[in-house]
Amino acid sequence: MNRETFYRITYGLYVVSSADGGQSGGYIGNTVFQVTAQPPRFAVACNKDNHTSGLIERSRVFAISILRQDARTELIGLFGYQSGRAVKKFASVRHRTGQTGAPILLEDTLGWLECRLVQTVDVGTHLLFVGELVDGDLTGCSDPPLTYAYYRDVKKGKAPKNAPTYIEPDPSDGAAKTGAADSARASPAQYACSICGHVYDPAAGDPDAGIAPGTRFEDLPEDWVCPVCRADKSYFVKQT
Ligand code: FE
Repeated sequence: MNRETFYRITYGLYVVSSADGGQSGGYIGNTVFQVTAQPPRFAVACNKDNHTSGLIERSRVFAISILRQDARTELIGLFGYQSGRAVKKFASVRHRTGQTGAPILLEDTLGWLECRLVQTVDVGTHLLFVGELVDGDLTGCSDPPLTYAYYRDVKKGKAPKNAPTYIEPDPSDGAAKTGAADSARASPAQYACSICGHVYDPAAGDPDAGIAPGTRFEDLPEDWVCPVCRADKSYFVKQT
């Protein structure tokens, strides 16, 4: 089996969100698609472990916010790589409450759809939520929508662990690359997070984490984590 074939399936990237009992949450979903035209119904796949999954089951509503192509990595990090159980994701972003009560993201988005849940299909690790369209509109941003291919190939992002399309990284891949040419380095190397694509630049350091500019990746404390997705150092791969 050739897993590269999986990447020939095209997807977009969206923030799927919901709210219930004063709590709100959202995750980055690529498995979002229209399943019927009359009436218009949309399906989203959500990992059972996602905080948002429980919110959708209880509130029976969800919103889909369509990300623009140049959506900020930090925004994708917030919604894609952090848990709504630990972080109030909508507290730090511009949004509004839709007529279903689900939060709609207004930053780096082109438009949104709101749905009322009509069917839930248990597909194993994920729940497939099918919703009937209640409302939808454009934000006025005319940028192209962000596709999974663009995110992966241009933004160098990877699927979060809870995504239906996540593929387990090969640990030997990173080890081989990080071990090579360590001695023959002219300037401190950049390292990229294999989970979210964030690049650690030694020249910039990570001031938010107290890491001074000029700190080599190798000299980062062992408990340092990716500022975007919180992955530990072992997920970083040296850039050549
Ligand atoms: Fe990361």
